[in-house]
Amino acid sequence: MGRDVKNIKVGDRVTIPFHESDGTCPQCRDGFPNLCDNAIMAPQKRPGGWAEYVTVVNADFNCIKLPDEVDMLSASALVAAI
Ligand SMILES: [Zn+2]
Repeated sequence: MGRDVKNIKVGDRVTIPFHESDGTCPQCRDGFPNLCDNAIMAPQKRPGGWAEYVTVVNADFNCIKLPDEVDMLSASALVAAI
């Protein structure tokens, strides 16, 4: 876990969007991180894309905590659609 990550802790069930966003551009600030000016396609640019463990930049913004009732298979399909 990166030292700057504040909202996610080890053991949290999370998923990440198909692309990572910076959280600071106008699109991100307006609630549209899928249109981020600086989006990075995680599976193509990050070690571990499509794996159990993956690096995530700006994890507090890009990690989405999963409710207990959402299984991992459903979570993976949900984030592929956004
Ligand atoms: Zn952005």
